[in-house]
Amino acid sequence: MIKVDNLSTSYKTIDGDIHVLNDLNFTINDNEIFGIAGESGCGKTTLLKTLYDIIEWPLNIDKGQIVLSGEKNGKEFSYKSGEIRKTWWNNIAYVPQAAQSVLDPITRLKKQFLDSIPAEDRKRETKEETLKRVADYLEELSLSKDILEAYPFQLSGGMRQRVIIALATFMSPNVVLADEPTTALDVVVQRGILMMLTRLQKELKNTMVIVSHDMGVHYQITDRMGIMYSGSMIELGPTEGIFEDPIHPYTTMLVNALPRVGDKSAKVGIPGRPPALKNPPPGCRFAPRCPYATVKCRASVPEFREIKPGRFAACHLLKEGGGMTSV
Ligand code: SF4
Repeated sequence: MIKVDNLSTSYKTIDGDIHVLNDLNFTINDNEIFGIAGESGCGKTTLLKTLYDIIEWPLNIDKGQIVLSGEKNGKEFSYKSGEIRKTWWNNIAYVPQAAQSVLDPITRLKKQFLDSIPAEDRKRETKEETLKRVADYLEELSLSKDILEAYPFQLSGGMRQRVIIALATFMSPNVVLADEPTTALDVVVQRGILMMLTRLQKELKNTMVIVSHDMGVHYQITDRMGIMYSGSMIELGPTEGIFEDPIHPYTTMLVNALPRVGDKSAKVGIPGRPPALKNPPPGCRFAPRCPYATVKCRASVPEFREIKPGRFAACHLLKEGGGMTSV
């Protein structure tokens, strides 16, 4: 389980701090595919990096923390921000954005697999035994073991993405974080990658966190999802509920703008653009684009709260149990 507890982060720049994540509070459960959606620049990738404990200058945690806890091989574990990196690959793995370019193009894949295995685990068996396990694992994932002899530059983009996912999941981590895993791939390859991720999650019964700006990706594979806007989580709940019955005004406009099979009505985008994180408006950051914005919206930040069971949102006008207060 991942608990995001009161988390705020910022980037330190010579022109001042840019507050990227603001008071995030939510939980990602064991054995689920959790999606994080939102427009470019809303903080999705920063959140994923913070979950993976890549806290390197100029990024800084201003307050709060992440707690990663669970059980593996009969042993319970718990790591918080600053400690999570100790358990990289074993309990948590990361598939970065543009993962295809992460592989060293001039090192054979078998060496890259061996290097990804923590030293403690490598000591338990010979190199040949490890490579046999890697080869068996690749075949389980319908990848030829022959690719272990290949260099990344010899593989297609889609194949490199599959290899990265195989690398990330080889140690059966409790959590896999994937940043835009299908970006820059054609639709057929995208579908193959999504099927691979879904199948792996079902087999490993672990937690997958998928960041994508593509709502179609979330609709196809996630169980629950969070919608981010300008560094804040503004809605969170089961994916089906979010698509069928969005409750936050931003999510409602976002979902209504999506094309649907058989729906020939003209789609209207959300007017305006997200505020600059360097100089956001006071109060609700969506207020400049929200058709319901009130004086209170422009003055005070709405609390992220449970509106109805399992459904969370940050909006002053949402009533407990659902529905909006009339303005
Ligand atoms: Fe719109 Fe106000 Fe709700 Fe923000 S708090 S989404 S401005 S109604």
